[in-house]
Amino acid sequence: MSTSEEHSPAQEAALVNEQARRAAQAGLNLKPSSRMAASVPAEQRLAVGTAPAVSVEDAVFSCRDVSVLYAGKSALSNVTINIARKQVLAVIGPSGCGKSTFLRCLNRMNDTIAGARVTGSILLEGRDILAKEQDVAQLRAEVGMVFQKPNPFPKSIFENVAYGPRIHGLARGSAELDDIVCTSLRRAGLWDEVKDRLHRPGTSLSGGQQQRLCIARTIAVQPEVILMDEPCSALDPIATARIEDLMDELRASYTIVIVTHSMQQAARVSQRTAYFHLGELIEVGETNRVFTNPRQKLTEDYISGRFG
Ligand code: ADP
Repeated sequence: MSTSEEHSPAQEAALVNEQARRAAQAGLNLKPSSRMAASVPAEQRLAVGTAPAVSVEDAVFSCRDVSVLYAGKSALSNVTINIARKQVLAVIGPSGCGKSTFLRCLNRMNDTIAGARVTGSILLEGRDILAKEQDVAQLRAEVGMVFQKPNPFPKSIFENVAYGPRIHGLARGSAELDDIVCTSLRRAGLWDEVKDRLHRPGTSLSGGQQQRLCIARTIAVQPEVILMDEPCSALDPIATARIEDLMDELRASYTIVIVTHSMQQAARVSQRTAYFHLGELIEVGETNRVFTNPRQKLTEDYISGRFG
C-alpha cells in the first residue's frame, strides 16, 4: 500500500481521478473541484482556493521504513511519514494497530520496553535519533510526552514544573526558574487557577487541571515536539474541550502528535491525520481530505464506522 505524500504531476492526475471515483462509489458529494484539473500543477491548484494541502516540506520529523518488533512479533511495519512543523498530526486507527508504538518511536520510549526492537530511520531536524550516540534524556526534553492518565509527580504544583528545567540546567537562578514555571503554567492555561496555591500538591488538582499541569511540565523544558497519547480519554467533556483549545494555541509554538481513538477529536484538533491499520500506515494527508475523501478503502471503512 502506498503512503507516499509527494507526487509527480502524472501521479497527482491519477489521484484526482481516483478520488472522484471513490467519492462517487461512496455516494459522497465530494467531487474534486473542476478547478483541480489534473493538468494544473499542485501549487497552482492551492493558489485558486481549493482545500489547502498542508506542506510537509518543512518537516520536523522524517521517518523512513520504521518497523517495530516486540519479542520478534511485528507491531509496526515500514512506516514512512514526514511530520510538519507547528501543526497537529492526529494518529488514528483501530485498537492495536500500532498508534502508541509509533508515538513511542518518536522519543525512544520503546527503549524502555524489554524485547522491543526499532529499525528504520527517524530524523529529528535531520538528526538520526535512533543513533547510539543520541542522548535519550535530552531527546525526551526535545520531544515531550503527555500520557493518557495525568501523572503529576508527588510534589507541589511548582515543583512539578520546576523539576525539568532544574535537572536540564535551564535556569540560572531562582528568579529565572520562577519565570519558567509561571510562563509554562500560563502557556498551559493553568496559571490563573493555581497561582495562589503553587505549593499545594499537584495531585490536589482536578483531572483536567492535572493534565494541563503535565502539559506545563512538558513545555517547561522547551520542547520542539509534544506527543500526546490519548490525553483526554480520562477527562470529562469540559476538561477535554479545554485541552483541545489549548492544543490549538500550542501549535503556534510546538509541533504536536496526538494519538486519539476519537475521530471527532482528530477532526477538531488536527491539520493532518494519519490512519494506521494492523501496524501499517495506510494513509496520511490533510485532515479534511482524509475524512471527506479518503484515498484508501481501509481508511474509508474505518471513518465510516465499518470497523474499529
Ligand atoms: P494502539 O496504540 O493502536 O492500540 P499499540 O501500539 O499499543 O496499538 O500496539 C500495537 C501492537 O503491539 C499490538 O498487537 C500490541 O498487542 C503490541 N504491543 C504493544 N505494546 C506491547 C508491549 N509492551 N509488549 C508486547 N507487545 C506490545
